[in-house]
Amino acid sequence: MKSFEELGLNERILQAIGEQGYEYPMPIQEAVIPVLLGNKDENGWQGDLVALAQTGTGKTAAYLLPVLELLSRGGSPENKVNALVLVPTRELAQQVDQLLAGFAYYQDTTWIAIYGGNDGVAFAQQQRALEQGGDIAIATPGRLLSLLRHCKVDLSHVDFLILDEADRMLDIGFYDDIMEIISHLPKERQT
Ligand code: AMP
Repeated sequence: MKSFEELGLNERILQAIGEQGYEYPMPIQEAVIPVLLGNKDENGWQGDLVALAQTGTGKTAAYLLPVLELLSRGGSPENKVNALVLVPTRELAQQVDQLLAGFAYYQDTTWIAIYGGNDGVAFAQQQRALEQGGDIAIATPGRLLSLLRHCKVDLSHVDFLILDEADRMLDIGFYDDIMEIISHLPKERQT
C-alpha cells in the first residue's frame, strides 16, 4: 500500500487530508491519482480516464485531489473555470462541495457549486458566481445548462471535465444536456 506522500500531492493538500482523518489512500485513489498526475505525452497531453468503484470507496477524492494538485502547479488562466465536475443530483453536488472545502483549505483554489431545486435568488447568485468564474465548478447538468442559455458563461478554459456517476447521469436522461454542455468546452481537455 502506498502513502499519500508517494502519490505526488503537495504539502498543503497532504495537511488538509490529514486533518480529514485520511491516513492511507483507498484503492481507487492509489490507482487513479498517480495516473492523473503523470504520463503526459511529448505534447504535454494526457489521455482521458474512466474509473469504476462502488459508492463509498473514495472516488470523489480520487478526482478532486489530483485536480487540486494540478491547479496548484499553475498555468491555468485566472477567473476562468478550469475544472468542471458534473454530478447527477443536488445532494451529490453538496457533498462534493463539502469535501472540496476540506481538501482545498490551505490552497487558494476557488470553486462554485451550481445546482437546482432552490429559489430565484440562488439562480441569480449562481449566475453571478459563474460569470465571475471559479477554478472549479461543481454542477448538475440541468441547472448549468439553464445558466449557460441565459447568461454569459465562459467554459472555454476547462482543462478537466469530470463526469461523476456518469452511469447514473445517463440513466436519469442527462445525455443531451451533457452533450450540449460539452459543446461549450474546448476539445483539448482531459475527461
Ligand atoms: P466517496 O466514495 O467519495 O463518497 O467517499 C466515501 C467516504 O470515504 C467519504 O466520507 C470520504 O470522506 C471518505 N474517504 C475518502 N477517501 C478516504 C481515505 N483515503 N481515508 C479515509 N476516508 C476516506
